[in-house]
Amino acid sequence: MANIIDGKAVSARVKEEIAKETASVKAKYGINIGLAVVIVGDDPASRIYVNNKKKACETVGFASYEYALGADITQEELLQLIDKLNKDDSVNGILVQLPLPKHLDEKAVINSISPEKDVDAFHPVNVGKIMIGEYSFLPCTPAGIMELIASTGVEIKGKECVVVGRSNIVGKPMSMLLLHQSGTVTICHSKTQDLADHCRKADILVVAVGVPKLVTGDMIKEGAVVIDVGMNRLENGKLCGDVDFDSAKEKASFITPVPGGVGPMTIAMLMKNTLTAAKIKHGIE
Ligand code: NDP
Repeated sequence: MANIIDGKAVSARVKEEIAKETASVKAKYGINIGLAVVIVGDDPASRIYVNNKKKACETVGFASYEYALGADITQEELLQLIDKLNKDDSVNGILVQLPLPKHLDEKAVINSISPEKDVDAFHPVNVGKIMIGEYSFLPCTPAGIMELIASTGVEIKGKECVVVGRSNIVGKPMSMLLLHQSGTVTICHSKTQDLADHCRKADILVVAVGVPKLVTGDMIKEGAVVIDVGMNRLENGKLCGDVDFDSAKEKASFITPVPGGVGPMTIAMLMKNTLTAAKIKHGIE
């Protein structure tokens, strides 16, 4: 029977550390740290995410500046706002809540954010830095997962690591971080033949697909660390992961629940990146 990795507890600990450091930066250098959050349209899920991010800012002692824009905003107007935020000294991090309405060019918007304020780490400059291992910011979800793995005490070095999913925001950077920690990494995706066979070899298995209960207990190696990134909303309104928790927990040594696993870490890491951005800007070690 697996130990349950408590993402809420780990995230609370990370936020506590950030709050302490924020207070000390404020006391020592008189710096107020600020995060600008841009939301376009009225998607209810995006609204929840934005509210949670603002709440986290409050918890750690950052100012948050919300820019809630109508769904009919033009690309040019949005780019103008980002340009203004890039130049605004009170703003250390800029977060544009995705997805954007279809008429807006998401890639162009991401590329317009100054890499120094790109606390989501989606800008190609920051993505490239992850590849060569010289990064300031890590994308929040993979960074949070690394913290969760660290919290188990299981070493990554030399382990078979399998990442299911190859998206730019989770799967690919996740694989790179595991590789930087000297894991032997396999990346699986929708064209992978015999997914179960790959999963069964994993000492550390990270599943980021978006298909409820795709990975079942019989696909898991005895004693594996299982990280479930999936957040699937079922018809009954409940959240469900990509891993079948009930059967997987019988095989794993550690496993994340959904909700309460990876989700809370993503926001904690956003706070960490914003603090890092402020420290870099002010030359604080
Ligand atoms: P994407 O849709 O961008 O990527 C999904 C990946 O899964 C793709 O690489 C796809 O392969 C692969 N895939 C799809 N079907 C299968 C299959 N049957 N077998 C193997 N691989 C498959 O999703 P994201 O990476 O953005 O998100 C994945 C999940 O994680 C979602 O449920 C999302 O909600 C959740 N999520 C949770 C976060 C959190 O904070 N907890 C943050 C971000 C995401 P291919 O490339 O071949 O199409």
